[in-house]
Amino acid sequence: MGETAQSVWVKCLSFIQDNITPQAYKTWFEPIKAVKLTDNALSIQVPSKFFYEWLEEHYVKLLKVSLTRELGDNAKLVYVIRMENTYGNKQPFTEKIPSSQRTRISSQDIDSPLRNKSPELKNPFIIPGIRNVKIDSQLNPNYSFDNFLEGDSNRLARNAGMAVSNKPGGTSFNPLLVFGGVGLGKTHLAHSIGVEVKDKYPEKTVLYISAEKFTQQYIESVKKNNRNDFIHFYQIIDVLIVDDIQLLSGKAGTQDVFFHIFNHLHQNGKQVILTSDKAPVDMQDIEQRLLSRFKWGLSAELQHPDFETRVSIIKNKLYRDGVEMPEDIVEFLANNIKTNIRELEGAIISLIAHSSFNKKNITIELAKKIVQNYVKHTKKEVSIEYIQKVVSDYFQMDVETLQSKTRKRHIVQARQLAMFFAKKLTKASLASIGTQIGKRDHATVLHACKTVNNLSTTDKQFKKFVEDLDKKLTL
Ligand code: ADP
Ligand code: MG
Repeated sequence: MGETAQSVWVKCLSFIQDNITPQAYKTWFEPIKAVKLTDNALSIQVPSKFFYEWLEEHYVKLLKVSLTRELGDNAKLVYVIRMENTYGNKQPFTEKIPSSQRTRISSQDIDSPLRNKSPELKNPFIIPGIRNVKIDSQLNPNYSFDNFLEGDSNRLARNAGMAVSNKPGGTSFNPLLVFGGVGLGKTHLAHSIGVEVKDKYPEKTVLYISAEKFTQQYIESVKKNNRNDFIHFYQIIDVLIVDDIQLLSGKAGTQDVFFHIFNHLHQNGKQVILTSDKAPVDMQDIEQRLLSRFKWGLSAELQHPDFETRVSIIKNKLYRDGVEMPEDIVEFLANNIKTNIRELEGAIISLIAHSSFNKKNITIELAKKIVQNYVKHTKKEVSIEYIQKVVSDYFQMDVETLQSKTRKRHIVQARQLAMFFAKKLTKASLASIGTQIGKRDHATVLHACKTVNNLSTTDKQFKKFVEDLDKKLTL
């Protein structure tokens, strides 16, 4: 009847779109391509196993209804998974899924009998002589999914974390790597996963460890000559959570031992969860073979929370602390502290503390004062305009003079200093700095930066200028 895969899928999509949130639609349905239609089977291409599992887990009913509407009761859906390159160059493979019965692509939990195989296991990290010792998970029960609020900025990571907790080692996101800047919730999410696993599967051995502590333990084990015990200890863990793995960078020995532990756990269907302040591509001094393993599963980013999420995080915190705060102050905080949830929480705590110590109400004035403290610490980016103003004031000239074509030495120096600080304190390119400071080209700016560097090592007076200005601009 002239229907194509494309036309059938478009109709399914419009039905689906009406039945889920726009965000979910964007995340899970927009990336799908319809690739083939034969009789009553529609093939759709999804970007990863993760996607496939996610759709199966959450949207299989919706997909079924929408497809049945178009293709009748015998409608079938076929997933084509476009594999990322990480498993080598395997061809994309096809998996047929009768809508009634779930099939899983990923290998299932192979419950390794390791613990029984080596009952003589010597383990330096648990008290000797006690059998069936429970390993302390080192989990913080205050960090749970319940109080890890969902928003656009963390949806993928949070949901992947939940999926992993429901089926540790049994999803394709192994390892699950959560990355993102400071204070955005990596540690919180990592604990939540562990806490949830413990809750669902009390018999599983979960361990949370920071990469820093892992490194110390490893160094200690080398000193004490029990490196093998160290490795064995980690190999019996079912769910291993390593926080801040960027700290392994440059530590070849620790990376090597972690590589072996990782492989063992992975091969035995155990779950590994990692966090990092950088995306795998940006990690430096981490061995290639380890980096490539980090990419095996899913890397999910925690981004800066949007305004709505910041507001809900604040409100949730206030609610849990039993404190009331006027709406305009909540919004003021959310508007002014944007890039770090830890600081947002810090501001709320000091606001509450100030008001209760001084027996004052929480007012917008108080909020402003407190936010100032935070904004100072967060090292806000200065503008090139501001830099020129501060430098001209310091040398008691006006900005036009600083920008003028004159070759008078003190003016040239002031201009060069402005360029130097613009390079140092902003993200602007040399060319853009040149344009903004008296329409110079990028070579002039580069020359200025070099001159300032040279002069500040050879000329004491000049060094003082640089130091003074640095203070004025960064405090
Ligand atoms: P990171 O490890 O990325 O530096 P943390 O996990 O320590 O960040 O988070 C910093 C603070 O922000 C913690 O107190 C945490 O509870 C809070 N936080 C982060 N993300 C969320 C969220 N989505 N919902 C509620 N609180 C959050
Ligand atoms: Mg952390």
